[in-house]
Amino acid sequence: MKIKEIKAYYPKWENLAKGQWQSHFWQIVVKIKTDNGLIGYGYGGGGEPSVLIINKHFKELLIGKNIDTINDIQDIWNELYFKSLPYGRHGLAIMAISGVDLCLWDLLGKQNKKPVYELIGPVKKRIINAYATGNEIKSYLLEGFKDFKIPHKWENNDSYESLIKLCEEIRSDIGPDGKLMIDSYMSWNSDVCLKMDALLKKFNISWFEDINTPDDLEELSKLRNRIDTKIAGGEHDMTLKKFIDISKLNSLDIWQPDITWCGGLTAGIKIIKLAEQMKTEVVLHRGGEVWGLHLIKSSCCENLAEIVKINEKENNKLWNNIPKVTDGLINPNDNPGFGVELNEHLIK
Ligand SMILES: [Mg+2]
Repeated sequence: MKIKEIKAYYPKWENLAKGQWQSHFWQIVVKIKTDNGLIGYGYGGGGEPSVLIINKHFKELLIGKNIDTINDIQDIWNELYFKSLPYGRHGLAIMAISGVDLCLWDLLGKQNKKPVYELIGPVKKRIINAYATGNEIKSYLLEGFKDFKIPHKWENNDSYESLIKLCEEIRSDIGPDGKLMIDSYMSWNSDVCLKMDALLKKFNISWFEDINTPDDLEELSKLRNRIDTKIAGGEHDMTLKKFIDISKLNSLDIWQPDITWCGGLTAGIKIIKLAEQMKTEVVLHRGGEVWGLHLIKSSCCENLAEIVKINEKENNKLWNNIPKVTDGLINPNDNPGFGVELNEHLIK
């Protein structure tokens, strides 16, 4: 099949508060129509600038391209990377490529009448464990979640005491067995991390996430040798090349690429293969979204899918038919492609 039309959109997030781009991660939608009548959907990052890259630059490279095999998708990925290289290699251009790449995988699944996870390879997990990221632990427990990650922003020296108190409360709510993780979103540094590692030992924290910015890989590799808690990161890192750097410096115990940002499934599969060679754990960033779930299902990354709990209005849900968590477990559906449909009114 050939690409007939392609258009990227920044959805009308009606409840998007001013300046709070994180509330929807500046996510974009990519829609491709093919000459055999199929419609594919992809999800990328980078907001309006990324939409512009696709609609003004990538479009002219993509119209008329064949997509019949995984190799075709790889060839397209390479061309988009090369042609955007002067302004790309990281950031917006790779977030835009991610959206296109996922759209192509969706189409390949639909053409073959198979879920994407079957295209990736043999199924490795019958069912996937989900964990909830957010502050409302009591309500996530009622929803059936068993594992949790809390955000923590470093403010001042009182932050040590307040986090100890919070961990005490959460451990008493979830018991000794549930996983508990802490995401500092780049607000800690090595000194804070060293102290937190000592202070929080009794709470059995599975990992500290995003200790500092991804530019501090050497600092992280030194820190790794000095603490017991695992260090996770990588949501802001893109393409295999960046993860090769991370692996050379041994900066992280757990890699967390985001499939809608790091270069799509095509990049994600390579990153996971490298991690396997390096015997490093991969826990996908926002892996509980459908794009990550398919990859978790058929790859050797950890059986743990992140569900970010965002207060979405019901009419603001971008995707229909998304997999739901039951008793802390989740699975992608068996529909062709990624198995979700777009709420088209959000891109009109
Ligand atoms: Mg994070």
